[in-house]
Amino acid sequence: MNLPHRPYLRRPPLLLPQLPSLHPLFLFLFSVDHPLVPATASSDGVYIDTCMMAASRTMWVNGPIIVGAGPAGIAAAACLHTRGVPSVVLDRDDCLASLWQRRTYDRLRLHLPKHFCQLPGMPFPDHYPEYPSKHQFVAYLESYAAAFHVRPRFRQSVVCARFDSAAGLWRVQASDDDTGVVTEYIGRWLVVATGENAERVIPDLDGADAFKGPVSHVSEYKSGEPYRGKRVLVVGCGNSGMEVCLDLCDHGARPSMVVRDGVHVLPREMLGVATFSVAVFLLRFLPLRLVDRLLVLLAGLFLGGDLARLGLRRPSHGGPLELKNSKGRTPVLDIGALEKIRAGEIKIVPGVRRMEAGGAELVDGRFVAADAVILATGYHSNVPQWLKGSDFFSGEGYPKVEFPEGWKGESGLYSVGFTRRGLAGLSLDAVRVASDIAAEYHTTSPSTRSSSSSMVPQPTQLVPCSQAET
Ligand SMILES: Cc1cc2nc3c(=O)[nH]c(=O)nc-3n(C[C@H](O)[C@H](O)[C@H](O)COP(=O)(O)OP(=O)(O)OC[C@H]3O[C@@H](n4cnc5c(N)ncnc54)[C@H](O)[C@@H]3O)c2cc1C
Repeated sequence: MNLPHRPYLRRPPLLLPQLPSLHPLFLFLFSVDHPLVPATASSDGVYIDTCMMAASRTMWVNGPIIVGAGPAGIAAAACLHTRGVPSVVLDRDDCLASLWQRRTYDRLRLHLPKHFCQLPGMPFPDHYPEYPSKHQFVAYLESYAAAFHVRPRFRQSVVCARFDSAAGLWRVQASDDDTGVVTEYIGRWLVVATGENAERVIPDLDGADAFKGPVSHVSEYKSGEPYRGKRVLVVGCGNSGMEVCLDLCDHGARPSMVVRDGVHVLPREMLGVATFSVAVFLLRFLPLRLVDRLLVLLAGLFLGGDLARLGLRRPSHGGPLELKNSKGRTPVLDIGALEKIRAGEIKIVPGVRRMEAGGAELVDGRFVAADAVILATGYHSNVPQWLKGSDFFSGEGYPKVEFPEGWKGESGLYSVGFTRRGLAGLSLDAVRVASDIAAEYHTTSPSTRSSSSSMVPQPTQLVPCSQAET
């Protein structure tokens, strides 16, 4: 089989249907410039893709295309690497684990003990504390990526991915936000690792424009220092909301925390043992609902039975683990905010009815004065915005098939990190995904691979990039 010459490469849609017969005999990462690619149709009028833009260049990928260089994407690439499968990792940001590096507050530590948070194949260093700081976690991720030769391609914001059924290949378009260059990556497998926290949830607060002070999302919050002496309305009472309130107190600010719905608050540790470890241990012997009841009982014992009186009533339906699994609502692991609530340093207020110039009118008719608002209202997945033509993900951007089966879709589609089970869950996904892809990838014997060398096009036509990848 002859590979097309340059003019043909400028019209990749026509080339695509021929590729399945090439792969896996011949698929390696290379790039070609083709400024004339049509956006929606090939020159013979065949419909291609509605979401596809005119790509400046195309890269054929020998191995999976992984979208996202957070812990999930890195773990998937590392697991693939150890199984001898190269991959390309794309991330919209300019660093790995950008959630941790760019969108979290300074005092953040892992919420769970470190042995529940390590990625496959490499434990945390022994000298790390039980709950590593975010800086330690990022350092761990950097050395993890280095150890497994994971070198993501940064500033590659994936805007569209679609399975080309005629070709049997995934076409992934990524835009470089700095240069505007759009690159189309083409490969046999697509691993979605953009995470459960890809985009900020910004609630529609009535009268928000009337409020005179600054309104920011918790992802922009670094420390309470700029808020010293100020009254701050923190909207949301999850781990982030609670911890930001605690940090604000430590910096001499006066936070009020909006608690609209029920919330499960658990001690982070009980008699020196992590509550999460207790839960994991109990789950070996008891059904989840019973473990939930025990956790609530123990929480009452260790935290006191006055939480509802403080404004922190438990949800009427669902225990802490059940709600985490079914709705992704993580129970709050208290690391000191409760004490501040009891001491009156953090005020609990109900939902906001409308914002006004100097604060907020609450649903119970009261008014709370505020100089600033911090929205600790969480995040959502962005998969539906860019993954097209697949019904593997729900409209909310989670695999429709529930844990533990949601890691594998159709036609070479995989997901890592959408199990609502944190780093332990995404590590499990990464191992499964890598094993599955490796089995398929290695079905080609080395002898068949080397025989494909005659098909390698001229260097002027193709730029090999495999050394830059994992
Ligand atoms: C504040 C906080 C604390 C947490 N603490 C813990 C903990 O202690 N233990 C635990 O187990 N879990 C914890 N989690 C939950 C979870 O483990 C983390 O969110 C973890 O970072 C998830 O990893 P991820 O790779 O799936 O997603 P992310 O870390 O969000 O990484 C996804 C990556 O995808 C990139 N991306 C998104 N969209 C695109 C696109 N269209 N194109 C290209 N790139 C894209 C992003 O830039 C990002 O780098 C915490 C979460 C938060 C928010």
